[in-house]
Amino acid sequence: MAPGTRIPPGAPSSAAHQECHARARARRHNADPTNLEWPQCLDLEGASAEHQRIRPGHGLGWPRPGCGRAARERRGSRQADSAPRGLPTPSPWAPLQGPCDDAGEPGYPRPHTSTAGDARAERSARNRGDRRVRAHRPRGYCVSGGWVVGVDIGGTNLVVGLVPVAGGDPLALRSRATEPERGADAAVADIERMAEDAIKEVLDAHGGSRDDIVGVGIGCPGPLDLDAGVVIATPNLGWTDYPIRDRIAHGLDLPATLDNDANCATYGEWWQGAGRGVSTLVGVTLGTGIGGGVILDGRVVRGVSGSAGEIGHTTIDLNGRRCACGNYGCLEAYASGPNIAARAREGVEAGYESVLSELVENDLERITAVTVYEALVLGDEYAHEVMLETAKILGAGVANIVNTLNPEVIVIVGGVTRAGDHLFGPLRAEVRRRAFKSAVEACQIVPGELPETAGVIGAAGIFVSEVLDGRSEREVGA
Ligand SMILES: [Zn+2]
Repeated sequence: MAPGTRIPPGAPSSAAHQECHARARARRHNADPTNLEWPQCLDLEGASAEHQRIRPGHGLGWPRPGCGRAARERRGSRQADSAPRGLPTPSPWAPLQGPCDDAGEPGYPRPHTSTAGDARAERSARNRGDRRVRAHRPRGYCVSGGWVVGVDIGGTNLVVGLVPVAGGDPLALRSRATEPERGADAAVADIERMAEDAIKEVLDAHGGSRDDIVGVGIGCPGPLDLDAGVVIATPNLGWTDYPIRDRIAHGLDLPATLDNDANCATYGEWWQGAGRGVSTLVGVTLGTGIGGGVILDGRVVRGVSGSAGEIGHTTIDLNGRRCACGNYGCLEAYASGPNIAARAREGVEAGYESVLSELVENDLERITAVTVYEALVLGDEYAHEVMLETAKILGAGVANIVNTLNPEVIVIVGGVTRAGDHLFGPLRAEVRRRAFKSAVEACQIVPGELPETAGVIGAAGIFVSEVLDGRSEREVGA
């Protein structure tokens, strides 16, 4: 079969592929191909509480059998359908994956190619004797078809798209304003509607059935209870103790994972973006706040209580500015978007001459990080100073990461990266000044390559890794 030709659902591709799927099923069912506990647990309308609680995979939101709008609609349209509800049908050709020696599964979407990422991987391979470089997808597994719904919940926008299990650009992307003040239920309803629209669009365009949609990966600002799939409290959204993972899982009648939005963006850049092919990567997300994600040997590091990677709340000044977290002197208190704007505003109020005043018609409260960037583009000297100071502050924070984790790549994402060399030049110089030479030389500090889609891709990628690949270490969800 020619590369690029998608194997139609329901059709065997080859004897080798059938064997691969048989091994995959055997692996997924604890090496016993006759073990049907997974589908049985999820299909039985009257499954016992024990069955509903103990499920394969970890930290998942599994739709209760027969729950959710999608399930109700499908019951109406597929009355004679005896296929299990709540999970993709475990047919021999349903999207599965398993150990496979074939590095390039023919006929399925391939991850998009990135010459920068490939070159970086090759450089890393040469430096280390080619021990750890891997394919740009979950390692050691042949991935067949299907899509995962990626959901990126942000303080400003909800973004939904379908990501091929094998990796690649998301399809049928949809976005709308979050408007968190409407409440979490309204946002979940929007997400369900956008996801159903996206699913229909992709299936209409590419063929296949609903069973080719294998799950949902959700990224959301924290703090989160990852095992329970609950938003504990989100300052940017105002939602508290909300079981968002299970609400979305039930609404779409699909299994779901939930993770921190910064972890998702970091994973997206590692899986499909600027960090492809490396084993150790740290992501820094610059936005309303500063988040971070850590990937070691292909796994997201979450820490014992799920708060690892909070680089924005590392202290860079003992008696510094007050941070939204309550601490003083956090990195976020200087270099997040609102705090870049606040520092710029304070300077103008203190008498620095700048085009900023004109840009906001002397209403200094209207200064934002975007305004500072616009002034920078206009050649404003004061905006340049603000950006230079921001870069140095970020450089100090990044140097702490470099010395702590010795990563191969630090990928910085967010609108501030539009400043380009104005930001990255002095930032890299500050890191060189502060961190160990050997660690600095081994580390590349780069902007993200997926500015609009890293969150969606990463949320879906975490689902692929943890559910289809079975790499989760989290406890079983509700
Ligand atoms: Zn803080």
